[in-house]
Amino acid sequence: DPQAHPSLDLTFAALSEQHRHLLQRAAEMADARGLKVYLVGGAVRDLLLYQWGRQPLPDLERLDLDLVVDGPYPLRGDGADPTGWGLILGQALQQHFPEARLEIHGKFQTAALIWPGGVCVDIASARTEFYPYPASPPEVAMGSIQQDLYRRDFSINALALRLNGPQRGQLLDFFGGQADLRQGLIRVLHPNSFVEDPTRIYRAVRFAVRLGFRLDSSTEERLRAAVASGLHDAVGGDRLKQELAYILGSRDWPTAFQQLSEWGALRCIHPDLEWDPSLRQRLQRVGYWATHFRHRYPELGSHEIWQLRLEALLLTLPQAPQVASQLHLTQAGIERLSTYPYYQKVLAQLHPELPPSHVVELLQRLRIPAVILLAAIAPKPARRLIWRYLQEWHWVKPLLNGHDLRRLGYPPGPSFQEILDQLRYRTLDGQLTTPAEAETWLKEHFSLPQRDPQSPQLKNQSK
Ligand code: ATP
Repeated sequence: DPQAHPSLDLTFAALSEQHRHLLQRAAEMADARGLKVYLVGGAVRDLLLYQWGRQPLPDLERLDLDLVVDGPYPLRGDGADPTGWGLILGQALQQHFPEARLEIHGKFQTAALIWPGGVCVDIASARTEFYPYPASPPEVAMGSIQQDLYRRDFSINALALRLNGPQRGQLLDFFGGQADLRQGLIRVLHPNSFVEDPTRIYRAVRFAVRLGFRLDSSTEERLRAAVASGLHDAVGGDRLKQELAYILGSRDWPTAFQQLSEWGALRCIHPDLEWDPSLRQRLQRVGYWATHFRHRYPELGSHEIWQLRLEALLLTLPQAPQVASQLHLTQAGIERLSTYPYYQKVLAQLHPELPPSHVVELLQRLRIPAVILLAAIAPKPARRLIWRYLQEWHWVKPLLNGHDLRRLGYPPGPSFQEILDQLRYRTLDGQLTTPAEAETWLKEHFSLPQRDPQSPQLKNQSK
């Protein structure tokens, strides 16, 4: 039976002023409409752990709140009801907080209130989910709060805190979530959980490494059984990508991947994916290089580290671009993975004795995020050259510019670029060191046009 929770106020004292105010208003508005409103999911889990002194709260200002609303009588249950309880409360809250934007999603009209600063509250009607076949998208129907909690992934995520009415402060714990939280256990709510939704395998590892928890033994058995049953073929899409983003964006990704590999669960990404020290180093390198060069190459700023790590993970697999597109990676990401044959060609040519101009010629055809991926799979000598390219060679300019060429009497035209490239390569290789030297070299190698002013004649195109 659900037990009253004695110290709600203490729990909420940890929240930001804005969140407290919001929950207070939600409670009052639900009261006024005869609705029951609960705080559910991750926020309850994190608040309890915080209250017990087990974990610091994550970023308070950015804590996402999930509310579930239950009404005085069951809704029609076929999803056709135009105004679920959650939407009623969402709309009322939005009127009270006009600065927040109200988004309404899906057949069940889940409401999301989003404040300009990024605070986000999801408000759903209590509902129940069932899976017509394994790993299929769930069918959803309206349900009670108990059914709503039963459709969740783990007992520690299936706690609900009543926010209003006489039962305000009651913690609903139908599945032993508090005990599991205290013992540090991840437990599924029913035997078929991983089969129904294999992304839960990735969620299990995410919570295990983040919270320092372990799987309870029967949950681990079920997880291994789900993997062994070959479900990996059915996984994919946005939800798996979302979980991978969480994992690869966290500090704990190496532990998480080690664990996924031990469970055999990397097969959900690709049947050939094997976790080993070199793959781990590759992903580490991507993070290090991307962070190091981020301030010098603004283009890198728009690529999250998890995204580049995920691409590095897939890069050498057969059919990597197809896998990437199943995972809904960006078009640019899919293209970077399709460039793998060119990376191999470049790596075959990147010898330590190669003059800088050749290195630049090979690498400048790639955009910077692709260069980072290339570095991630490059052996050490090639990596040194790529590092110098990003650090200095990329930035080396020819000693003369277009303006100088015009001043010297060369008419602007398509060959300008060729001349500037040649000047740049010679500067890179140390053959030209001053603008005066560059002018002399230019006059020797590119004669000024006689009759056709459109194109200066190239005396000698070789370098
Ligand atoms: P975080 O603190 O990392 O945001 P969270 O627990 O809030 O973790 P979300 O992914 O935001 O995780 O999901 C919110 C809640 O929705 C979870 O606590 C869980 O109850 C439920 N949930 C999310 N994904 C699933 C899933 N695949 N299967 C079942 N329940 C899920």
